[in-house]
Amino acid sequence: MSSPNEQRLWVHKHTRREFRERMQAGEVKACIIPVAATEQHLEHLAMEHDWRSVCHVSQLIADKLAPQVVIAPAMNIGISEHHMRHIGTLTALPGGWLSVLFDTIRSMHSAGFRNILVLNGHGGNVAPCNGMWGQFLQRFECNVQFHSYWDFLSKEIAERHLKTKRFPGHAQEFETAFALAAFPENVRHEAMLDQADKEPLEATAETGRILIDAIVDAVSKHLEDMIDGRNVIAIPPFHP
Ligand SMILES: [Zn+2]
Repeated sequence: MSSPNEQRLWVHKHTRREFRERMQAGEVKACIIPVAATEQHLEHLAMEHDWRSVCHVSQLIADKLAPQVVIAPAMNIGISEHHMRHIGTLTALPGGWLSVLFDTIRSMHSAGFRNILVLNGHGGNVAPCNGMWGQFLQRFECNVQFHSYWDFLSKEIAERHLKTKRFPGHAQEFETAFALAAFPENVRHEAMLDQADKEPLEATAETGRILIDAIVDAVSKHLEDMIDGRNVIAIPPFHP
């Protein structure tokens, strides 16, 4: 998607002067770091899906909360060992991947951010992040949170709109509906008809639009609460 504000939404689209001046003015209060993957999404969906979808919601959220939020460059290779039987997938080992994420957070922390939302678009990244998060918090001692964007979709809304009632799933109704609504060129209709898995056929752009709106509203609220100090993550206690 493109927004008239796009240049002000992404860290890397600023010059260093523009970025410095906005930080000094105190108008930018939180940072989103999108993390995703590039991996097979069945026969019908482009392999960029996880990256493209998390960037799409990040941009809508930052736009909604402008000028308070900027988005760091996304990590578009994820932890995808379980998809490597399908060539074209890229994967990283958890240790190296977590190091790059740690340094990305550290860079944004050095820039002055104390409210940082790592917004995830790929299931394989969840377990490694959950396993390390306490230690990340003890290093940074600030409000740095990790969430997958689909965690913000209530079961009630998802079940009301998804015919299969299953989410997030992998390249199934939810992700296919998201793509039909946000970047329909990524969905190959002929392949959807001839592949063995028929669940993606239940997806509609209309469902995708409803679910994206619900997610963007909920994440924006969460981030606003982080900025206003109503939502601060607890740092695990240090050993006395
Ligand atoms: Zn996916």
